[in-house]
Amino acid sequence: MRVGFIGAGNMAGAIVRGIVAEGTLPAEDLAVTSAHGRSAQALARETGVDAPGSNEELVERTGPRGVVVLAVKPHLIAEVLEPLGDLLAEQDSLVVSLAAGTPLATLESFLPPGQAVVRVMPNVNALVGAGMAAVCGNASTSEDQVDAVVGLFETVGSAIVLAERDFPAYTAIAGSAPAFAAHFVEALARAAVRNGLPKMLATRIAAQTMLGTARTMLERGTTPAQLADMVSSPGGTTIAGSLAMEDAGFSPAVVRGVQAVIDRDREIA
Ligand code: NAD
Repeated sequence: MRVGFIGAGNMAGAIVRGIVAEGTLPAEDLAVTSAHGRSAQALARETGVDAPGSNEELVERTGPRGVVVLAVKPHLIAEVLEPLGDLLAEQDSLVVSLAAGTPLATLESFLPPGQAVVRVMPNVNALVGAGMAAVCGNASTSEDQVDAVVGLFETVGSAIVLAERDFPAYTAIAGSAPAFAAHFVEALARAAVRNGLPKMLATRIAAQTMLGTARTMLERGTTPAQLADMVSSPGGTTIAGSLAMEDAGFSPAVVRGVQAVIDRDREIA
């Protein structure tokens, strides 16, 4: 399988580095382009992948039934995709879009009928190999093609197949939640600063605690409620803290935040 990335920014860079580092595919089977070629060439120098001079050349080099990943900002999708339509159809390429908030139907409208298209919603944690990605293929994709895309994104974290109707809820808790988690870490750190800890140290302690908590849930299968029970001794300090947070509206605030993401997503779709 050959994979070409149109766009060599944060997301393409993270995935290309992940694939090369894990040896999922050899560097010579990967190619990248960018708006002016400079970021693509820098990524090519760093990882050993190819950096063709144009998007057309990239599709050609990706070859018949190759994977062409659109890793440009969502507002550039139409301008990038439309000129490539005939070539992508001719090569029977699998088009993979990372564009946030861009449904399969919109992507299909820029392409010849019957083109295989997969929509992927990755998240920012792909940058450290701990991302979360949701993958959904259109009616022209095979199960093998969707599985191959899941495999690519597993090189930079976890990936799941998800129905497109569930993308808004997924996006709220995978795409936006890194910001929510960051607010939580910041709030923990500020509370510790109030009690005498230096900010940098407090932030490190809080972030490491979030990392460890997430790993305990994922690696041991501990549910959030079980984990909370494990550290809440009867009559102790943690239960006092948890109840004080609930009293201040913690869970309703989180639920309202997630709902606001979903509502705003519908508004701008
Ligand atoms: P970025 O701005 O870091 O990179 C965009 C790249 O596109 C740049 O290398 C730019 O040179 C290139 N580009 C622009 N026009 C081009 C053209 N005509 N031909 C070839 N390359 C061109 O963006 P990013 O953060 O990597 O995001 C890429 C996509 O991934 C977006 O659609 C975004 O919605 C999606 N996404 C990103 C994240 C994230 O955390 N970064 C999360 C979810 C989804």
